[in-house]
Amino acid sequence: TAVRELLLSRIRDVADHPKPGVVFKDITPLLADPEAFAALTGVFAEQCVRHGATKIVGLEARGFILAAPVAVSAGIGFVPVRKAGKLPGATLRQAYELEYGTAEIEVHAEDLAAGDRVLVIDDVLATGGTAEASLDLIRRAGAEVAGVSVLMELGFLGGRARLEPALRGAPLEAV
Ligand code: IMP
Repeated sequence: TAVRELLLSRIRDVADHPKPGVVFKDITPLLADPEAFAALTGVFAEQCVRHGATKIVGLEARGFILAAPVAVSAGIGFVPVRKAGKLPGATLRQAYELEYGTAEIEVHAEDLAAGDRVLVIDDVLATGGTAEASLDLIRRAGAEVAGVSVLMELGFLGGRARLEPALRGAPLEAV
């Protein structure tokens, strides 16, 4: 579609970032274009309605930027999932495997509860590890997963396959 073409045209490929051999998908041109940013917000907000989401989780850090305007637009709450050690209150913490080593993410326990239906938003689905861990956090908090929505999926990294079991039938959508 025209919207999809617009959005993808505003993602810049940066060679050898953050290390040699990696092509980094940079969304800053999209953020700097108000028409594109509004269009993306609209796409995510429509998915929120379609999946009956009652809360939005944004994944640090670019997920925060994309998810916050969606929450305001959809009239539902925004909940940050952060790298471990950043949130000041009582948290739930989840570890997950990286290519080399492990990482941990956290959410404020009081931000999610039974009865919530949560849409997870991030810019890029790479290996799927971060998104998978966020679904664990959401369920451990007693909430339900409405879906995972990203701007783009790096298909060659197999994130969709890794995430599949944790989705338990919930949709994974890329623009
Ligand atoms: P994953 O856990 O391997 O799926 O990595 C996903 C996280 O890394 C997301 O929060 C993304 O924002 C970030 N990420 C990985 N690759 C890229 C990229 O090429 N561009 C922007 N973010 C990326």
